[in-house]
Amino acid sequence: MPVDEAVERALVVMAHPDDVDFGCAGTVALWTDAGTEVTYLMVTDGEAGGDERSTTTEETAELRRAEQRKAAAAVGVTDVRFLGRPDGRVLPTLDLRRDIARVIRQVRPQRVVIPSPERDWSAIAPSHPDHLATGEAGINAVYPDARNPHAHPELLAEGLRPWSVPEVWVVHPPGADHYTDVTDVIDRKFTALAAHASQIADVAALEADLRGWHAANAARGGLPEGRLAEAFRVVDTR
Ligand SMILES: [Zn+2]
Repeated sequence: MPVDEAVERALVVMAHPDDVDFGCAGTVALWTDAGTEVTYLMVTDGEAGGDERSTTTEETAELRRAEQRKAAAAVGVTDVRFLGRPDGRVLPTLDLRRDIARVIRQVRPQRVVIPSPERDWSAIAPSHPDHLATGEAGINAVYPDARNPHAHPELLAEGLRPWSVPEVWVVHPPGADHYTDVTDVIDRKFTALAAHASQIADVAALEADLRGWHAANAARGGLPEGRLAEAFRVVDTR
């Protein structure tokens, strides 16, 4: 399928609340505008985020889930799900693969978005171990788990038929090969980021950095001067 064709359903799998908003909320806004139903699946509630601990872990988790729902609404997403795995302790286990495959079989998306399972040595933060683990479990959930009827037989027992995802978008990976022009929706991306108030005190202070980062993506993607882009590697998983 042509890469930018609007699909009916897309599923974005990320480790923490706010990952989707830093990585690809602009692209998500373009997709929902085009009529794609987008579901978010967060592996953790992000309760290990933030510098100070003035709230309980459960209060932080609840706040961050609410922030993610608000951020999702800013880009047209209302279906936001959480697996509730412990933040900072995500591993690409068979159990996590099964839990992601379960949601793939429920949602039946034509497109799945994951963090990169490959470490980016040019910047430390994007390669948080939870991100790498979520990327690894996510691609394994796409292939083979969601499509193989023999994988995780409990899913069939739950009435969930195998589903083959034809296309995976890896967010900001080493070796990006696709750049989405998000210039026209960048303000909605900033609104989504601002929803994560417990993590980002002042989005306006971040705005120059964010614009610079997106402009560098656009330049790498060969887009005209002045454009802003999000970077992906698009993988044919048919
Ligand atoms: Zn994260």
